[in-house]
Amino acid sequence: MSAQICPVFIDGEWRRPAGLPTTPVYNPSTGEVIAECPVGNAALVDEAVQAAAAAFPAWRDTPAIERARLFFRYRQLLEANFDRICASVSREHGKTLVEARGSLFRGVENVEYACGIPSLLMGDSLENIARGVDCETMLQPLGVCVGITPFNFPVMVPMWMFPTALACGNTFVLKPSEKVPMSAVLIIELLEQAGLPKGVLNIVHGGREVVDALLTHPKVKAVSFVGSTPIARYIYETGTKHGKRVQSNGGAKNYIVVMPDADVPKTVEALSTAAFGCAGERCMAGSTAITVGAAAERLLPTLVNAAKAIKIGRTDISAPQPDMGPVITAQHRERVLSLVASGEKEGAKIICDGRGAKVSDAPNGFFLGATIVDQVQHGMTLSREEVFGPVLNVMRMDDLDHAIEQANKSVFGNGAAIFTNSGKAAREFKQRVKAGMIGINVGVPATMAMFPFTGWDESFFGDLHIQGREGVQFYTQQKVVSTRWFGEGVGDVWKK
Ligand code: NAD
Repeated sequence: MSAQICPVFIDGEWRRPAGLPTTPVYNPSTGEVIAECPVGNAALVDEAVQAAAAAFPAWRDTPAIERARLFFRYRQLLEANFDRICASVSREHGKTLVEARGSLFRGVENVEYACGIPSLLMGDSLENIARGVDCETMLQPLGVCVGITPFNFPVMVPMWMFPTALACGNTFVLKPSEKVPMSAVLIIELLEQAGLPKGVLNIVHGGREVVDALLTHPKVKAVSFVGSTPIARYIYETGTKHGKRVQSNGGAKNYIVVMPDADVPKTVEALSTAAFGCAGERCMAGSTAITVGAAAERLLPTLVNAAKAIKIGRTDISAPQPDMGPVITAQHRERVLSLVASGEKEGAKIICDGRGAKVSDAPNGFFLGATIVDQVQHGMTLSREEVFGPVLNVMRMDDLDHAIEQANKSVFGNGAAIFTNSGKAAREFKQRVKAGMIGINVGVPATMAMFPFTGWDESFFGDLHIQGREGVQFYTQQKVVSTRWFGEGVGDVWKK
């Protein structure tokens, strides 16, 4: 039986475009091809953008409270279909059901945020900025906005984008990752059931040609991107060159500093989740632990035991569920293995080796066990490259100054965390470390819907971040209106 072809959604119609090449979508737990994703082209993009542009005037003029009602209904449908969506994420991405649920919750919170759009869109006003002149600000939508998303959060990252964009009155074209398109299709089917008008949101699939067509289409006003740094930079440069507003989130390498006074059991628990949760395929993964002084001796034996106890297995069956699933593709698994090998070659020590991990009922799955590489030095390949797998680097430093200095050498700046009982150390760290999201005894300080997702340096290209008020600012343009009325008598009430 041939695998199903993932549909596109254009102008309110689901269809499987004929004559396009396709790429395989895998179940990474088994290695089986479960769907084929069409590789679209510029003509397909034009259809989608034209549909979004045609839908814009009526959607823009729909009162904000009515747009919010779409998201209240959507919220209910997401809840009713919660398990189905999580099963889809686990099947095509390889997240455990617990991880899939966590990621969907984070997505739903963005829908809940969008439900508050009437208040979020309110402007300011000041009467009498000059005699007889009043002034007000208005936030208006931009037009057609685009979302291009990565494989690692099949539903959460699209939900960082389209609920706020649509609630602000924009229309949208979504290009999900070709590795995980089915879950994105599922959540948009539910949006359609909630009452999405025709053309307000469209989905296209594909690679470079589709992305270029979106970045250069004259009717596209803004582009939100999440993915790896080289592509994020390309999206920012190409999009801005073509006059688009762009927010472009890139890759990361996040440091977790462990002070000698840290609570060992709690730190181990947080560090294991930060490093090995979602098989390390998280832009906020705590991929390098910097131990300060005696922290290494206190922490590492317990950490290694915890890593060895992580149960690996297939995530596409409801029970038994493992602690950790596979990585996304066989090719990605090979890349992670070669990065670990580079560490060994360059003099680091593997103190927990998950490379030979096997899952008996899924011999063809893309599995890797939790791996800890100790004595990583600055300059080693492992210290520079984003690994994006279940691999934790350990770097040892003598004091907090050196730990912060090391963290600040990174070209990335997504997240950084410290584990300590000292308020002074925590304060020093949060003030001096160069990253946008800081955790104090929190291993994955990824922000929730009401706060912006504030990557720095090569983790973000643009000005206004995704989520929170910055998200609303990104998807709107501001108008300042100064008003004066002429005529006798109207203002005479003040003279009496
Ligand atoms: P990726 O950059 O390979 O792909 C992201 C998107 O870009 C996909 O839709 C893909 O189809 C498209 N794309 C890929 N190559 C392209 C090209 N040459 N030209 C145009 N478009 C192209 O990223 P990925 O492997 O899907 O996701 C993992 C990466 O995403 C990691 O680096 C991770 O850190 C990053 N990420 C960042 C954040 C953040 O908020 N900073 C969040 C999640 C993931």
